[in-house]
Amino acid sequence: MKLFDNTDAPVNVVDQAAVEAQGPIKGYVHSVESFGAVDGPGIRFTVFLQGCRMRCQYCHNPDTWNIGVGDEMTADQVLDDAQRYKAFWGDTGGITCSGGESLVQIDFLLDLFTKAKQRGISTCLDTSGNPFTRDEPWFSQFKKLMAVTDISLVDIKHINSAEHKKLTGFGNENILDMIQWMSANNCDMWIRHVLVPERTDYDNYLTELGDYIKTLNNVQKVEVLPYHTLGVKKYNELGIAYPLDGIEPPTPDRIRNAEKLLHTADYNGYKTWKPTK
Ligand code: SF4
Repeated sequence: MKLFDNTDAPVNVVDQAAVEAQGPIKGYVHSVESFGAVDGPGIRFTVFLQGCRMRCQYCHNPDTWNIGVGDEMTADQVLDDAQRYKAFWGDTGGITCSGGESLVQIDFLLDLFTKAKQRGISTCLDTSGNPFTRDEPWFSQFKKLMAVTDISLVDIKHINSAEHKKLTGFGNENILDMIQWMSANNCDMWIRHVLVPERTDYDNYLTELGDYIKTLNNVQKVEVLPYHTLGVKKYNELGIAYPLDGIEPPTPDRIRNAEKLLHTADYNGYKTWKPTK
């Protein structure tokens, strides 16, 4: 499989009327997970959408990077599939869109979440925020999406933009702008941060990130995700060099230290959280 460099590829904002004239919007789906237990509140049917412009050095899903490939599915096809598991969702579970980077396919995502809410299904967006822009028509689509999104899992890769660029290929200004907008507009969030020795595991950056999160509204949970090496095999299979070769997962002490500096124990809203949209 050849992985092309799609860092400059446009996200798929398209003319809505033209698309509707052609029939239902289709999304490019990489895979699904029927019983996701770590992809948001409760048990969730997780849809991994294809496409991401970032190139995180620790990405364990490089096979999701390419834009415009994958299984083409309509929102109703995804939801019919998901609803077979509805009995397991309880009050808090539902569907999560992850990736790749879900926001790359914002038109499909909006269609999917709108139809999910019409069916009474809770919606969760897992994002790293890279496609975010206040340019139109994208921003209007995003605002409509947030109106049908119960909660977002927002991954802050690095609080320092220069370090974010080294780690992912892109700065973080627009990502923090997205988070500010979400904070100001009552969007419930979980904040997640991958702890990587020699990349993100520095007390000064963790302190800065912890202070930043404290300024936000509606943060229900903060999670430290320890870097792991499970993705190495995929890099070998795809024939691409693994950027973090030789870097080991963080020690339990460093994980505890990061949790302390990010004040994870202070964010308990998730324990009683229920979807309200
Ligand atoms: S944002 Fe996610 S899918 Fe994209 S490169 Fe980073 S870890 Fe991989």
